[in-house]
Amino acid sequence: MSLRDDLHAGLAALERDALRRRRRRNTLPCAPHAQVDGRALLAFGSNDYLGLAAEPALAAALAAGAQRFGTGAGASHLVTGHHAVHDELETALARFVGAERALYFSTGYMANSGVLPALLGRGDAVFADRLNHASLVDGALLSRAELHRYPHLDLAALDTLLERSSARRKAIVTDAVFSMDGDVAPLPALLERAARHDAWLIVDDAHGFGVLGPQGRGTVAEAGLSVHPEAWRIVLIGTLGKAAGVAGAFVAGEATLVEWLLQKTRTYIFTTGAPPALAHALLESLRLIEAGDGRRAHLNRLITLFRTRAQLQRWRLLPSRTPVQPVVIGDNDETLAVSAALEAAGLWVPAIRPPTVPTGSARLRISLSAAHREDEVIRLADTLCELERQLA
Ligand SMILES: *Cc1c(COP(=O)(O)O)cnc(C)c1O
Repeated sequence: MSLRDDLHAGLAALERDALRRRRRRNTLPCAPHAQVDGRALLAFGSNDYLGLAAEPALAAALAAGAQRFGTGAGASHLVTGHHAVHDELETALARFVGAERALYFSTGYMANSGVLPALLGRGDAVFADRLNHASLVDGALLSRAELHRYPHLDLAALDTLLERSSARRKAIVTDAVFSMDGDVAPLPALLERAARHDAWLIVDDAHGFGVLGPQGRGTVAEAGLSVHPEAWRIVLIGTLGKAAGVAGAFVAGEATLVEWLLQKTRTYIFTTGAPPALAHALLESLRLIEAGDGRRAHLNRLITLFRTRAQLQRWRLLPSRTPVQPVVIGDNDETLAVSAALEAAGLWVPAIRPPTVPTGSARLRISLSAAHREDEVIRLADTLCELERQLA
């Protein structure tokens, strides 16, 4: 077989297993009302939890940033591409999450895949929740440290692995809010383990930043750990393309840690700085997040409303108090069929299949946003219940 035949066979296998993915074309801004391949749909799939991605004040800040700073940073941060507005954003981010210092990255994928290799190497060990985001797994593999994956949220299994390890340097790595399950990691218990075994605690708060904690300061702040004496062990990663509505990510923590990451993180050093205009827009985004208690209160009302209303029998609505509300269906084909039936009813809810989630746990990943209205959430819950009866 030629190299190309391999690819043909691989694509055919994806098609056969209902694993081939297709991109949908939306012609409207990211918001509940989408126009997808020519059809109006009500969308429940974005991570725009506060409804900021299409917020006019943010678009204006981005435009003003482009007028002031142009479109490109021109170089990497350590050469000539570090602009004052990047610095201003880092200061604001650090203050917001209660850390000494923060480093601004172009994407969460880059932050996650870069931090572990900067902190650990051969002979060291990573202890990772099995449901962590792919970018954290990749970071662990790139670091060449031994990777131990523990069953989801299983602290006893983590304890056993930590006790058996003789690695010199260790890191416990976790999503704060799990992206495909919506549940929250027990951060105080993980920090206690980290302190006991002298390990870093790397926390990816992609889905908690802006949403959880006082003024949306995130899952670490919600757990009361930001000013904790052991907080220097926490390497906090937040992303800025979800609730913050723009793009990028940051790593925040104690000053020595952040200075080390600036010196050693390859995904920070060997890439062009993000456009300064984005940093300018993100400063406005931080102000909107901080002043966003109204948006968060509305979002929480929607979460309660959805969970009360979506009384499913065969399909399983996972326990989650966050905007990520997964309905596990199991089979790939059935999940696709339900997603298609929802779409026929005017609702856009993405089907999530392996390898994004474990085999046999294909699901609808419903995500709610402060931009949704109550009647829209009721329509989704009622349609789901009706479909479950019809497709039985
Ligand atoms: C989205 C996501 C990332 C990646 O962030 P990007 O800025 O989109 O690259 C990292 N971790 C988790 C848990 C995510 O959901």
